Amino acid sequence: SKMVFYFGKTKTEGQGEGKQLLGGKGVNLAEMTRIGLPVPPGFTITTACCDSYYKNGKQLPKGLMDEVNEAVAILEKELDKKFGDDENPLLVSVRSGAAVSMPGMMNTILNLGLNDAATEGLAKATDNPRFAYDAYRRLINMYGDVVMGIDHEEFEHAFDKIKTKYKVDLDTDVPAEGLKELCEAYKAVFKKHGGEDFPQDPIHQLQLAIEAVFGSWNTERAVRYREIENIRGLLGTAVNVQSMVYGNMGDDSGTGVAFTRDPSSGQNKFFGEFLINAQGEDVVAGIRTPLPVIEMKKWNKAVHAELIAIKDKLESHYKDVQDIEFTIEKGKLYMLQTRDGKRTGIAAVKIAVDMVKEGLIDEKTAVLRIPAGDLTQCLLPSFIPAAKKKANVLATGLPASPGAAVGQLAFTAAEAKARAEAGESVLLIRKETSPEDVDGMHAAAGILTSTGGMTSHAAVVARGWGKCCVAGAGDVDINEKTKKITVNGKTYGVGDTLSLDGTSGEVMEGAVDRQEPKLGGDFGTVMEWADKYRTLGVRTNADTPEDSKRARAFGAEGIGLCRTEHMFFEGDRIGHMRAMILATTEEDRRKALAKLLPFQRKDFVGIFTAMKGLPVTVRLLDPPLHEFLPHEKAAQKEMAEALGISTAEVKKRAEQLHEMNPMLGHRGCRLSVTYPEILEMQVTAITEAAIACVNKKVDAKAEIMIPLVGTRAELSMLREKVEATIEATKAAKKFDGELDILIGTMIEIPRAALTADEVAQDADFFSFGTNDLTQMTFGYSRDDINTFLPDYLKQDILHGDPFQSLDTTGVGQLVEMGVKKGRSSKKGLKCGICGEHGGDPASIQFCHEVGLDYVSCSPFRVPIARLAAAQAAL
Ligand code: PEP
Ligand code: MG
Repeated sequence: SKMVFYFGKTKTEGQGEGKQLLGGKGVNLAEMTRIGLPVPPGFTITTACCDSYYKNGKQLPKGLMDEVNEAVAILEKELDKKFGDDENPLLVSVRSGAAVSMPGMMNTILNLGLNDAATEGLAKATDNPRFAYDAYRRLINMYGDVVMGIDHEEFEHAFDKIKTKYKVDLDTDVPAEGLKELCEAYKAVFKKHGGEDFPQDPIHQLQLAIEAVFGSWNTERAVRYREIENIRGLLGTAVNVQSMVYGNMGDDSGTGVAFTRDPSSGQNKFFGEFLINAQGEDVVAGIRTPLPVIEMKKWNKAVHAELIAIKDKLESHYKDVQDIEFTIEKGKLYMLQTRDGKRTGIAAVKIAVDMVKEGLIDEKTAVLRIPAGDLTQCLLPSFIPAAKKKANVLATGLPASPGAAVGQLAFTAAEAKARAEAGESVLLIRKETSPEDVDGMHAAAGILTSTGGMTSHAAVVARGWGKCCVAGAGDVDINEKTKKITVNGKTYGVGDTLSLDGTSGEVMEGAVDRQEPKLGGDFGTVMEWADKYRTLGVRTNADTPEDSKRARAFGAEGIGLCRTEHMFFEGDRIGHMRAMILATTEEDRRKALAKLLPFQRKDFVGIFTAMKGLPVTVRLLDPPLHEFLPHEKAAQKEMAEALGISTAEVKKRAEQLHEMNPMLGHRGCRLSVTYPEILEMQVTAITEAAIACVNKKVDAKAEIMIPLVGTRAELSMLREKVEATIEATKAAKKFDGELDILIGTMIEIPRAALTADEVAQDADFFSFGTNDLTQMTFGYSRDDINTFLPDYLKQDILHGDPFQSLDTTGVGQLVEMGVKKGRSSKKGLKCGICGEHGGDPASIQFCHEVGLDYVSCSPFRVPIARLAAAQAAL
């Protein structure tokens, strides 16, 4: 099948071929050509060729170079230039371009096609020898680096010698004859370190460049980037071969990158940067600090106007924000790239809402377009304005990616990663970041660079992750060797803390206080839309009144799981809990439980009140009892003293409770079977709290949930006990009103799902505990999976952590079966999910499909779940 697709005036192929085959860049170059934008012509080699390259043991597929030669011939004819010509040579760029963009991760070669003769030709054709030798030396350097793996430093040394000889500091001040000498010096470096002469045959250059781009698909950093971004299932990268245009032809030339809207805040402001007399990579690499695109007006009004018109055309064609690259050669504008712009979660929300207002997209498209997981960024804290006012602002850089990061300084990516893994909050401090730094950038709380613009590598990558980044803070002098920064006359090192405001670009001394986010505005609008389209309910997992209140503010429609054991750890409670566990008789146990009861009741009153009018599912005690006992000797001694018993006795009881597989042991409903008095205490506390609320006219809607049920018999028996306890409590409190307490169960053991039709007969509701269900279905310990998961992911045995995103093919079948069987014996049985998956967008899609009534997730994920539920419904 066809391996090369041409784009240009002669013809533009590949209409209807997607990104999977042509890569994002290839598809859009063809598309821009088709809608009449000024794109230098060229051709795209498919990703399928990259796939066969690897399948053939790193050999280009047969016939590829024939197709490439044909395309080159068309290009030569269209431009009336010839490869390697000593009069008017054709030069091309060779760039990677996968289906998913991987900024800066793969190789690029510019000026390809130059050799000794063509350089003379270029000098003649442009009447600019300086330019021609500059282009040639860049090619030898890039080609040496990318194809032959020659260290860039080797070329730099040669350049330094020439600069010394000509007594100049700047590259741009070296005269033409100096650059000519430099080309000779570079060829010598090439031969010395590459072991052969710099190739003079342009087709040979092209072939090796294509192989090098394919090779860069699997470099460590590219592989790692795909891992972090969870990019899977791609064939490889495409290769785009495009005729060169030059932004470095003098002061009437330039190059730049822009976003059709501000990708950080989302504001509808053309947002970009350009450099006069520069070549492509100069902007992205962050070596020179570029000018904002608005300044272009002063420089060349006509080009600025044309660029604005193209920006509008692109937005109305793609109906989304575009991230573009352009070059101006002697006053003529060319488009080199367009793609959907990466944006922060905050920008995604604003852009979606604005585009609906502008009539560019409809509400449903807007809802579908915001990555649900990115909403987290709208829920992040910001610095308290008053605290910021008092803060010592050390420097102000560019607000590259919003957020409020506080941390200690780390000077290398490896250090940032190691310290973050050890639990520290660190800021990664770099002059500029390079693709090798991705790991450290990902691990850091924030990123600070001293050079580079809004579109530098650090800025682009950080925005994609929603990570706070301040870029180009030129006043910060970074010394990597001594691990110190100097700013404003003061010096800070590894142990010092700074605060970064990614929204304003400020770098502040110390830890500045932060505050919770505000939730109205565009965010509120998106949430309203989400609620309009979703059919799934969204509840929260919360154990305290504070969490309940927060979740309610985030839009939770009830509590899907209140883990009561979390209430036993605070303050004095743990002492009573331990006394209960140590008790040898039922009587002593009841005494200890009686002391716990008022605490539980108070908690429940708080939660019911915070959630008034909304259902609250309270789960009875679940973890094995030994989790509440101390295991260290000193702590055991302390506990023995507090309880007035011997340390030996404590030790003995701890040993008695020890289990080989506690997760499969004496926990969940099994505890209530052995110690029904625990169930009685908890149900009494719930009922008393509900009565107290009713008496205060607070509408409490309690649901009692029994965990870890595997057989109907367990549930029948415990249900009877719960009912009897509710009745007894009502009688004791002389309460004869309605409480309407539901009694249901978790489905978290495979057997419960398999026999859900039986279990449902004693349940008012089901809640799928997919944490345990995943554990028991895979047989993977939820606490120990990290011992082997990395190997499973690397070797593609698993595509993700099944505890994060529901395994819909396996565990999902049990959920689906549980719902179907449950509803077969109890029509309309209410079913929800309360495992961690309830906050994961992909799992929420599945929950919608199998007809669950609601998902329940941690408070901060509630907005994500609301949006994901709407996306599932659309
Ligand atoms: C579950 O197993 O999915 C669940 C929600 O319960 P826990 O995580 O407390 O075991
Ligand atoms: Mg569980």
